[in-house]
Amino acid sequence: MTDLPDLQEFAWVGGHPALDFSNTCEWVDGEVDIEWLGDYNRLAEWLRVGGFLSSGAVLELGKLAAQELDKAAEIYADAVALRDSILAICINHPHDTAALTTINRYVTQARAHQHLGWMNEQFVWTYGQDDLRMPLWLLAAETAELLTSPNFSQVLQCAAEDCSYLFLDTSRTGKRRWCDMATCGNRAKARRYSARKRE
Ligand SMILES: [Zn+2]
Repeated sequence: MTDLPDLQEFAWVGGHPALDFSNTCEWVDGEVDIEWLGDYNRLAEWLRVGGFLSSGAVLELGKLAAQELDKAAEIYADAVALRDSILAICINHPHDTAALTTINRYVTQARAHQHLGWMNEQFVWTYGQDDLRMPLWLLAAETAELLTSPNFSQVLQCAAEDCSYLFLDTSRTGKRRWCDMATCGNRAKARRYSARKRE
C-alpha cells in the first residue's frame, strides 16, 4: 500500500485518543478524501506512533496477523465500524442507536479482556499482548472513556470546509473553531483575505 500517507505526518489534534482515531479517515463532501489506515498492520503502527503500543507489541501483533490474515482483516473491518460509529455519535449526536450498539459490542469485549498492568510507574488497563483483537479493545475502551467523560459535550468538528477532523474544545472561552489554528485556522483566514481582495 504505497499510496497511503506517512503515519509520522498524522496530525494528533483531536485532544482525545478516540477523536484522533476518528480523524484517521478524512471526509470531504461525504466522500472519503484521505484514509490513513487501510489495513490491520497500519492500524497497529498508527497506535505505536501515537504511543499506545510499544514497538515490541506491534512486532508480535504483526507476526500473529501474518499467520491469521482473514482474522486480521476481520478485526480491521471491526475497527473501521468502531471508527464510523464514533463519527456518527459525535456528529449526529448520541441518539444514533445503531452506532451505540456497535460501540457497545466492542466495549463489552474490551471489558471482558481488560486487566491491570504496571507501566511507566503507574497502573494502567491493558488488553493482552498476544491477542490480535487487542488494538480494537484498546480503542473501544478509549471510546467508552470519551463518551462517558464530562468533556463529551465539548467535541466539535473543524469549521474548515475541507477538514472533517473532530476535536475536544478545552479552550477557556469554548469558542475554538478549527482543529488546528496553525493549519485550518490560517488557511480559512487566508481564504477570507483573498476573497476580500477579489471583491
Ligand atoms: Zn481542521
